[in-house]
Amino acid sequence: MKFQYHQFKYGTDNYGVLVHDTKTKETVAVDAGNSTGYLNALREMGWSLTQIWITHHHGDHTDGLSELKKQTGAKVFGPKSIESVDVSLSEDDQFEFSGEQVRVLETPGHTLDMLNFYLKSEETIFTGDTLFVMGCGRLFEGSAEQMYNSISKLIELPRETIVYCSHEYTLANAKFALSVDPENIELINRYKSIEITLKNGLPTVPTTIKREVQTNPFCRFGDIAIRRKLGMIESSDSSVFKKLRELKDSF
Ligand SMILES: [Zn+2]
Repeated sequence: MKFQYHQFKYGTDNYGVLVHDTKTKETVAVDAGNSTGYLNALREMGWSLTQIWITHHHGDHTDGLSELKKQTGAKVFGPKSIESVDVSLSEDDQFEFSGEQVRVLETPGHTLDMLNFYLKSEETIFTGDTLFVMGCGRLFEGSAEQMYNSISKLIELPRETIVYCSHEYTLANAKFALSVDPENIELINRYKSIEITLKNGLPTVPTTIKREVQTNPFCRFGDIAIRRKLGMIESSDSSVFKKLRELKDSF
């Protein structure tokens, strides 16, 4: 990989990520939920910020934005819903970070303004609060149908794609996943391994599209065992997805 990645925690369970090119010295921050957390991470790495990519308008992703922008002069890319964005983006827009193309995917559901950023040359995507490790974002603004379309779009990416998401929700997600997909050997094994990871105080993020397709029920709406468990063998993919989201909300 050409770029270096630095993931750090802030708030209760948020992950921030910095991506850096050692050659050009350019650095991007994914989201800006907390200026102190991001500025400390930059200082620790000795990196200067040149871009900020905002996924969506929630405060835990934007509260530090104006301060971070003021302190670093970084150019802000994000949805048009956010006032201090310099370049507002929508579906399939492309822009450059340190000589590489960044592709924008709209993935509404959690919010209506959600954007994901895909660095094709690195086979890496930043999914904000859309796709989580073994889960997906709650539906605050969008419909289950919209989230289903968003997740469907993400799982079309190459299987090796590395996925950075914004929260450490993995343990709760894994418990729910096991409740609807209890016979899935890959899921059972992954559950054991994330328990150890978390016990050692390590992050379970990033993940890959491949691992999510194997173990994340929200990426497995076509799976026969899950459908049988839900009594929805003949149902459409989107209605299975909707049912899973409802079950998770009351889990
Ligand atoms: Zn959010």
